[in-house]
Amino acid sequence: MEINFNKNNDGLVPAIIQDALTKNVLMLGFMNEEAYRKTVDTKKVTFFSRTKKRLWTKGEESGNFLNLVDIKNDCDKDTLLITVDPVGPTCHKGDDTCWAQNNAQTFGFLTELENVIQNRKENQDDSKSYVASLFRKGINKVAQKVGEEAVEVVIEAKDDNEKLFLDESADLLFHYLILLQAKGYKLNDIVEVLKDRH
Ligand code: AMP
Ligand code: ZN
Ligand code: ZN
Ligand code: ZN
Repeated sequence: MEINFNKNNDGLVPAIIQDALTKNVLMLGFMNEEAYRKTVDTKKVTFFSRTKKRLWTKGEESGNFLNLVDIKNDCDKDTLLITVDPVGPTCHKGDDTCWAQNNAQTFGFLTELENVIQNRKENQDDSKSYVASLFRKGINKVAQKVGEEAVEVVIEAKDDNEKLFLDESADLLFHYLILLQAKGYKLNDIVEVLKDRH
């Protein structure tokens, strides 16, 4: 790979470290050519530490190595995006990321929706909320709603009204998220089961 190590006249390029699975940014480090080679050869991310002024394999003391998954050069070959499989928390302060974030997997808007649903479960007396009213009726009622929406999806799948199929699919997914919450599960728990089977 052709990398421009001399943009800053210091032989270093910034390397953005991203978790291959969660896509969270874990940390930022700098690499010289030797660090890059060592990373490729050992499959353990190695930086040039500007503080230590030597090669530094992340995890060399803590054991929290960053196992290499992939390295991408950016548009003008002066910044690396490195995806990794981290062994433990990446930040030396003990956090998952250097910005004190959790390295949990998220699912974009579905995770936002999941959080709203969780909030309704915790505030079930909210009389204006449909979701809260479902939680008040109990798990059996929620499960029954999932069943009804699933049947509606089946019916619309036979038809050629795309709008109705999409609407019923959204209803099903929405009520399924409520059922998972009612049972005390997260979407990620189901994704983990799927991944184990894969
Ligand atoms: P480690 O590479 O995890 O064995 O940690 C060794 C030393 O490197 C720590 O004591 C810190 O000084 C430094 N260090 C570790 N992780 C980071 C990080 N994510 N960002 C900056 N410095 C770090
Ligand atoms: Zn660039
Ligand atoms: Zn840190
Ligand atoms: Zn419906």
